[in-house]
Amino acid sequence: GAANTKGVSDVPGRVRVAVRLRPKNAEESVADADYADCVELQPELKRLKLRKNNWDSDTYEFDELLTEIASQKRVYEVVAKPVVESVLDGYNGTVLAYGQTGTGKTFTLGELGEEDVSDRGIMVRSMEGILADICLETDSVSVSYIQLYMETIQDLLNPANDNIPITEDPRTGEVSLPGATVVEIRDQNSFLDLLRLGEAHRFAANTKLNTESSRSHAILMVQIKRSIRGGEPSSSDDENHSQSVKNCNLPVIRKGKLVVVDLAGSERVHKSGSEGHTLEEAKAINLSLTALGKCINALAENSPHVPVRDSKLTRLLKDSFGGTARTSLVITIGPSPRHRGETTSTILFGQRAM
Ligand code: ADP
Ligand code: MG
Repeated sequence: GAANTKGVSDVPGRVRVAVRLRPKNAEESVADADYADCVELQPELKRLKLRKNNWDSDTYEFDELLTEIASQKRVYEVVAKPVVESVLDGYNGTVLAYGQTGTGKTFTLGELGEEDVSDRGIMVRSMEGILADICLETDSVSVSYIQLYMETIQDLLNPANDNIPITEDPRTGEVSLPGATVVEIRDQNSFLDLLRLGEAHRFAANTKLNTESSRSHAILMVQIKRSIRGGEPSSSDDENHSQSVKNCNLPVIRKGKLVVVDLAGSERVHKSGSEGHTLEEAKAINLSLTALGKCINALAENSPHVPVRDSKLTRLLKDSFGGTARTSLVITIGPSPRHRGETTSTILFGQRAM
């Protein structure tokens, strides 16, 4: 980290934080009908008002406010597209979703849109953006998909790999997961198949462990290697969707890595069961989310020391945030006043990055 110089973002290494409010669900429409929502978003002012009681509220500022009517397309454009573009230019980048279970983390990141393609989330749209920009003759895109549960890394593409180590290249600082399945992607359909496979394995692994997906982090890693012309990167050509061969026959290899993290439910940090497995799970989640909070806080304060060593989650992200990397955090919240406590703690987590 310390060796890195200038970042690609306006403020190098800074985490951009968006808030996304989930629409009321059917249950909430009935149960909360007589009560005011606990938050009010003011997107033009980039402000969020958190209701404390009937007459008082606190105001917080964020980089972007995504209301309950924000489309998946818009969420992608605001939260992930700048990160994807910098990854295509050869930098690393991370997109994280943090929030209470049921507030829309998986919908935001992992939704496949099987019924309606307009519902597709950030993972699918990012790959679409990548495939549209690269040249398959000379560039490559490969993917790994893992779950981090109780400080153990499991391969979502091959359940036989259930304890994957994290290694770091001492020379480049590059983080890798030896033994994790790496699949080369050449088209969107094979990527969708891979996400479906990962989802099925995640469900099976969690059934076997007798746990829920809200207790583990799901992490998609996309590695891009491209051969480029010596000159300018091609991000200014994004509007040009014609099959381009301009970057196809040149020698420089440029690598970029995109990491998309669907974090464990943040309520797990507070809701520790009284005994056994549940308490251990809560401790592991607490460890990783607290470590993540410390890291984004260090990035926000431009601290030279980002404490990535504290958890596997942050060790894994070491080469993907800070320095020249772009990081985008979307915090997801629900409207119900019954969850004011969790909503407040989610908002405060997001504020630590600002
Ligand atoms: P989490 O992953 O945070 O536990 P989910 O993504 O599973 O939450 O969302 C919970 C439910 O709410 C799902 O049925 C999901 O489809 C729905 N949902 C979440 N966000 C939205 C949204 N912005 N618009 C419509 N439905 C949503
Ligand atoms: Mg989820």
